[in-house]
Amino acid sequence: MGQFTNNETLCVQAGWTPKTGEARVLPIYQSTTFKYETSEQMGRLFDLKDSGYFYTRLANPTNDAVAAKIAALEGGVAAMLTSSGQAANFFAVFNICESGDHVIMSSCIYGGTFNLLTTTMKKMGIACTVIDPDCTADELDAAFLPNTKCVLAESISNPNLVVLDFDKFVSAAHRHGVPMIVDNTFATPINCKPFAYGVDIVTHSTTKYMDGHALTVGGCIVDSGNFDWDSHADKFPGLTTPDASYHGITYTEKFGKLAYITKATAQLMRDLGSIQSPENAFLLNVGLETLHLRVPRHCENALKVATFLKNHPKVAWVRYPGLEDDPYHALAMKYMPNGTCGVLCFGMKGGREASEKVMDRLKLAAIVTHVADARTCVLHPASHTHRQMTDEQLMEAGISPDLIRFSVGIENAEDIIADLEQAMSD
Ligand SMILES: *Cc1c(COP(=O)(O)O)cnc(C)c1O
Repeated sequence: MGQFTNNETLCVQAGWTPKTGEARVLPIYQSTTFKYETSEQMGRLFDLKDSGYFYTRLANPTNDAVAAKIAALEGGVAAMLTSSGQAANFFAVFNICESGDHVIMSSCIYGGTFNLLTTTMKKMGIACTVIDPDCTADELDAAFLPNTKCVLAESISNPNLVVLDFDKFVSAAHRHGVPMIVDNTFATPINCKPFAYGVDIVTHSTTKYMDGHALTVGGCIVDSGNFDWDSHADKFPGLTTPDASYHGITYTEKFGKLAYITKATAQLMRDLGSIQSPENAFLLNVGLETLHLRVPRHCENALKVATFLKNHPKVAWVRYPGLEDDPYHALAMKYMPNGTCGVLCFGMKGGREASEKVMDRLKLAAIVTHVADARTCVLHPASHTHRQMTDEQLMEAGISPDLIRFSVGIENAEDIIADLEQAMSD
């Protein structure tokens, strides 16, 4: 598949290339284990001297094929699937940080990622500075400390749809000798390829558009292969000095551009075991086969719904980066000119209570803790996903109490609008 680079072809065909007589469809390798002829052969795998499968906690052929498809879509050199998006963001950061280190994170970020960095990883001794993504370049520069190891942000933030100023963030990270990590869940590689803007590592909750049908929880980490760890060897000893738990292998020396993903597999997956099940990877792959068809339809429908809401007398405000007067429209046009995502936010005149009442009256749009599904769905972050955050933290994250997160599906747009219309009628 190496010669093809168009999204449509990669979605359908990348990752699994059967040889003569092999299954046309990616098989589910429903096996924990893999057989070898000699003890010596298996020993070489444990030493990372040969590559091959030995235990599904570390690697599985079904998972690898799906990871390869996502790597191809993002234009990266390697990828690994994880059991969830949470595991992907944790591994992406923890692969290059340890106790005593520091991370910079955008304040406009998924609630789970916010808790992961500011509570759980804090307990592990990793400090986090949360920064407003609309800060000036000087403010961003001032957030870096000598022990800063990476910067983390979302290409389009969940739930408040802030489009990342890639140039500002990537140039700051690189000026300070650390990689930029971007969670590209909402934009997907169909609408945005962060590596083209200098981002080093991309993460995904594949649970969302990639699966697209609300079937499986999953995550993925993709490495561009572009960050030069050896040039900043003192900051990243885990990659640039011998790993005693693998007989003294130095990842950058032995694996070059594959060092980061190899270390994440060999150390983090080995020790923390957050592998995606092969059956889930198979279902994710079926979702990926139509990603290029679904994402544009999600965006087309979302723009119609956003325009309807904007003109509705009972709606106080609407946020959708596809709307021309949206504060993030210019950044969206610059970094994702073909579209953003199918998610929009709005608030009702009458505040939190009026917003919740509209949600309760919707029939086609279901109240679920999910987003980016083929089926239209809706959620109230202040009482659901972001419930643990204080009012102050909510405002800092740009989430007002009346905010409804509306995830537009791929049904008929007029039907989705009719549902909203009846929910807002007296
Ligand atoms: C949902 C989500 C996550 C967490 O992913 P899970 O698969 O639910 O663990 C991380 N980042 C973003 C942007 C998300 O929307």
